[in-house]
Amino acid sequence: MKVDLIIKNAKELLSLKGSAKPRVGSEMDELSIIENGAIAILNGKIIAVDFAENILQKYNSAKQIDASNKVVMPGFVDSHTHPIFAKTRENEFEMRIKGKSYVDISQSGGGIRSSIKFVREATFDQLYEIALKNVKKIISNGTTTIEAKSGYGLSTESEIKMLKVIQKLSTNLPIDVIPTFLGAHEFPTEFKENRIEYIRILKEEMLPKIAELNLAKYCDIFTEAHVYTVEQSRDILQTAKKFGFKLRMHADEIEPIGGAELAAEVGAISADHLGATSNDGIEAMRKSGVIATLLPGTIFSLGMQSYARARDMIAKNLPVALATDFNPGSCNCDSMQFVITLACLQMKMTVAEAITASTINGAHALQMAEKTGSLEIGKQADILILDMPSYRYLPYHFGSNNVETVLKNGQIIWENKI
Ligand SMILES: [Zn+2]
Repeated sequence: MKVDLIIKNAKELLSLKGSAKPRVGSEMDELSIIENGAIAILNGKIIAVDFAENILQKYNSAKQIDASNKVVMPGFVDSHTHPIFAKTRENEFEMRIKGKSYVDISQSGGGIRSSIKFVREATFDQLYEIALKNVKKIISNGTTTIEAKSGYGLSTESEIKMLKVIQKLSTNLPIDVIPTFLGAHEFPTEFKENRIEYIRILKEEMLPKIAELNLAKYCDIFTEAHVYTVEQSRDILQTAKKFGFKLRMHADEIEPIGGAELAAEVGAISADHLGATSNDGIEAMRKSGVIATLLPGTIFSLGMQSYARARDMIAKNLPVALATDFNPGSCNCDSMQFVITLACLQMKMTVAEAITASTINGAHALQMAEKTGSLEIGKQADILILDMPSYRYLPYHFGSNNVETVLKNGQIIWENKI
């Protein structure tokens, strides 16, 4: 049978074939590796995955990629990013080195609030140009699906401006870009003393307008002691649900105020950060099927040690995903490869678990697992070719880009050839 493309002779083909549900426990350590593997691709979809000799017997193609001595795996799914901003905040990175905390910086007018000022002032085109460059770098590091959040506008007009930038990225870039509304990222300065009024605007103006314009699939919130309380979060998330948004949360990043428990209660698809989550929080999430998305790059960049308890979560059968949290403040990291290194070193995840968390479980965290996240028949041909002898080399060779070729829907969208 004639196909559009064959990728053949992969030393290790990490298919991640397995359960259709989010992978939990020992399933996370299973990559379903085919040695000397091949993939046949037709119309952007995977139509066969097998040993190279079997594929080459059944299929032929004028276009073939020889992956001898290389690793072939699914594209990374980065389910938590903030790539739309007007100005980077490297000055805060240096302030942190000199001893200022994230909360200190935020309360002195830096942090998210400074990003808000610049995003409000920026034009749509300025924001788009910066975001386009950000996402191209993310793609060059092997990510083929991202979630992208608003949340640096915090007014109806500027949040819509950000979401329209995300919409344009989704139209113009070859990868899947999943939009999330994060109007509850902070309280804007003008409502610092009148938080109730900002929540009213969020619920009565922003959510209905964004739902009407169909600009976001998810509604997210920053539930933390210094921003949105559990009660305020419940109120906003339940309103968002009524408008048809699916939910995700920034929960228990710094203090265990009950964010994970709330994620379980409101049926969030994913709760993210979770550095301070209690055992009860882990159990509540497991019971309601919330995915734990861990963001070790942020803890690393903040110079903290409060990494999420990935080992306990995996032991308790909570599905774990990994994401970059790429943003201009607390984590300017666009590489899932580096996140995998941190997950292994700082959270003691095995290399296989970290790869599962960065591909198929990330896809589940975006409800995209039927389309991407593993190399299985019928899925999009979202594939990476890595110039390395074994998948175990991926976190070991850190600080470098190990991805040689990025394919999305069967098309080469990026090549890093030395
Ligand atoms: Zn975030």
